[in-house]
Amino acid sequence: MSESKIHEVPSDIAARAHIDHDQYQSLYQRSVEDPEGFWAEQADRFVTWFKKWDKVMDYSYGPDDVFIRWFDGGKLNVAYNCLDRHLDTRGDQIAIVWEGDDPSVDRSLTYRELHAEVCKLGNVLKSRGVKKGDRVCIYMPMVPEAAVAMLACARIGAVHSVVFGGFSPDSLRDRILDSDCRVLITADESLRGGRQVPLKKNADQALAECPDVSTCLVIQRTGGEVAWNGERDLWYHEAMAEASVDCEPEPMDAEDPLFILYTSGSTGKPKGVLHTTGGYLVFAAMTHLYTFDYQDGEMYWCTADVGWVTGHTYIVYGPLANGAKTLMFEGVPNYPDNSRFWQVVDKHQVNIFYTAPTAIRALMRAGTDPVKATSRSSLRILGTVGEPINPEAWEWYYQVVGDSRCPVVDTWWQTETGGHLITPLPGATPLKPGSATRPFFGVVPALVDASEGTLIDGAGEGALVITRPWPGQMRTVHGDHQRFIDTYFKQYPGYYFSGDGSRRDADGYYWITGRIDDVLNVSGHRLGTAEIESALVLHEAVAEAAVVGYPHDIKGQGIYAYVTTMAGVEPTDALKQELVKLVRTEIGPIATVDIIQWAPGLPKTRSGKIMRRILRKIAANEVSALGDTSTLADPTVVEDLIDHRANQ
Ligand code: ATP
Ligand code: MG
Repeated sequence: MSESKIHEVPSDIAARAHIDHDQYQSLYQRSVEDPEGFWAEQADRFVTWFKKWDKVMDYSYGPDDVFIRWFDGGKLNVAYNCLDRHLDTRGDQIAIVWEGDDPSVDRSLTYRELHAEVCKLGNVLKSRGVKKGDRVCIYMPMVPEAAVAMLACARIGAVHSVVFGGFSPDSLRDRILDSDCRVLITADESLRGGRQVPLKKNADQALAECPDVSTCLVIQRTGGEVAWNGERDLWYHEAMAEASVDCEPEPMDAEDPLFILYTSGSTGKPKGVLHTTGGYLVFAAMTHLYTFDYQDGEMYWCTADVGWVTGHTYIVYGPLANGAKTLMFEGVPNYPDNSRFWQVVDKHQVNIFYTAPTAIRALMRAGTDPVKATSRSSLRILGTVGEPINPEAWEWYYQVVGDSRCPVVDTWWQTETGGHLITPLPGATPLKPGSATRPFFGVVPALVDASEGTLIDGAGEGALVITRPWPGQMRTVHGDHQRFIDTYFKQYPGYYFSGDGSRRDADGYYWITGRIDDVLNVSGHRLGTAEIESALVLHEAVAEAAVVGYPHDIKGQGIYAYVTTMAGVEPTDALKQELVKLVRTEIGPIATVDIIQWAPGLPKTRSGKIMRRILRKIAANEVSALGDTSTLADPTVVEDLIDHRANQ
């Protein structure tokens, strides 16, 4: 790939940043040389403890047992840290700004108001028999009550399992059963892009097969009609009207579970990732403050849904632990029109904006006019997460959205990692478009040769592993510790294996190349999907591309590219030839795309990630066994690709 340009740290950003270049160097060094001392300091700084821990960290990465413990013996409560401790200093400051699906609808809650709601809901849950350690399922629209529900669970020591409100009744049922939830919190309907989604109806269908759920608490969002089971169902507003605002926070052990969350399902059956209390909160708060360089009083907006880990750590727990103003958005980027994100930025004077490459690529496809129609002058920092961001999309985000003024933090992390592991810090890290840059404090990544398992020194490419624990690391797969060991610790003994591949350049910058299972082997050459896709989207006619390998008689694997053109562009054979040529020039003759299929849409998870495992099946003509498709956002996309596949 041609050498990318470097964006130096803007001097005004560096001048007031929490962490500048030299501080990053010295603090990072300290964090790896004296992890116990370093993390004890951070735990003290970011979290208020009822009782201090006995031991900072204890762990085994196998080969036999795998366990990870942080701040053992410490006592704390997450809701206390996100709410109560702010009341004296910022009780009347806004905690959550909520922007409804309809642009004329918004509302906000101060820390004091949010605290009161959380206490009341804690009491409602207790009155329905929820005790410390019990699991509560949350299946909600993006409304402040979703955060209230999470915090209420945390306050009374219940373990929440948030299921994205776009999931089907079957997906909801599977998750409720897997984590044995006894209470479900949902809403009558949700509202997205002007359309109602019948949450309660879906819930009823799911609960028909979940006999152990004894309470279904229903928030009235739209007033739409719902069926009612008098023994099980309870209106949220009625229950809350009678609840007391006094609810003592339950003192939790640092290693008590905080939540279970299922992964997106990009690579297979979702895993019930379990996070615990103390380490997670320290890591959430610290990464939120430093990665976004959050300054007191700023308006911060993460566009994720609370149904994903990004919503957990970077809409709710991280920002609230830091006493920030966090914006919660109910809608979608293209409703009422493609300007919506930027209108919301102007309306609420957003300073820090965090979204996903899938949204950036979709908005890019619509052109610059919807962006340029807005001011965006309040923006200071931009962020991205979820997939590798192609340099082309990075530059568009930087130049068009940020007017070449705002650093872009490309944050690499996973549901499993709890928070950012590899990311720039705005005041410290010169940026290279497409690179997640350098490790966060205390994080020691390494690359291993994917087949030999040997460590790679210096510049190179391989499987991305982490060599020691960090406080936000998941502790187990709920109910299946063996799956935890097998998935993350078997392949490369002694390391946590992320499942992703990465390149490391001579400056020590990491470039995530995609899932290691997606790596192509063309005539003995290993090619990452991200690299080829980035070359394809360099072409002005291309909006999005997904690349997979397929069996090829001579090369072993051939390159099969699914390409979505820009709005209004006619796909032609001449364009195909141009694209093949472009990839060869960018990467080299080995990267000769064998087949291009025009794709009006790509199969994505409900969190917006491309599902290459399905594309691989289509390319290989194995369309009768597509695997787990329950997390697929739009099944018709797959049908269309199958009908038009180019390798029959
Ligand atoms: P499943 O584990 O069920 O297959 P998933 O991996 O998509 O689903 P998540 O935990 O939501 O579930 O996503 C984490 C993955 O997203 C990472 O492993 C990586 O592949 C990708 N990812 C996240 N952020 C970035 C980033 N900044 N750059 C490149 N890839 C990223
Ligand atoms: Mg994963």
